[in-house]
Amino acid sequence: MEYYSSHINSLIEELGRLPGIGPKSAQRLAFHILNMPQDQVHRLADVLRDARDNVRYCSSCCTLTDQEICPICANPNRNHRQIMVVENARDLAAYEKTQKYEGVYHVLQGAISPMLGIGPDEIRLKELMRRLEGDVDEVIIATNSSLEGETTAMYISKLVKPTGIRVSRIASGVPVGGDLEYIDEVTLLRALEGRVDL
Ligand code: ZN
Repeated sequence: MEYYSSHINSLIEELGRLPGIGPKSAQRLAFHILNMPQDQVHRLADVLRDARDNVRYCSSCCTLTDQEICPICANPNRNHRQIMVVENARDLAAYEKTQKYEGVYHVLQGAISPMLGIGPDEIRLKELMRRLEGDVDEVIIATNSSLEGETTAMYISKLVKPTGIRVSRIASGVPVGGDLEYIDEVTLLRALEGRVDL
């Protein structure tokens, strides 16, 4: 039986596809949106479309950016021979906030997770390996200390070691399972400075 008009149903359905939004939240959001002033809803629709159409992956580090090359990769003052590997753009932002890291990044856009069926080919590893064909002194693995993050770190270290490039892992001062973005800057810096060679 259909309780709502098909427009409302499709709105609920689309919102329900978002992560962390169950059927009840999707309904609540849908009715909230329908009660918003029309111009506000149009603005929301516009920014969604604009963001999706204009944001892309940096052709070097794979972070999300408006440009072909992101501002960090384009900055000649950064140390391009030191690459910190993170899982996502939020982790990159966490390290950038410390204002102490001078190298560049590589954003995997995920982590290896056999449980979720995410294999090495599903994350941006090939792109990382391609970058290592250039002049690189060190790869700092800063994936999370979750099971997925550790699995990914191990996998990367096995890939990088034969190249002779130094591979290090940020220190385990970072709480287990803790997302990097929630960790304070002092702890992040300590983790970076206390990194150990793999
Ligand atoms: Zn970049």
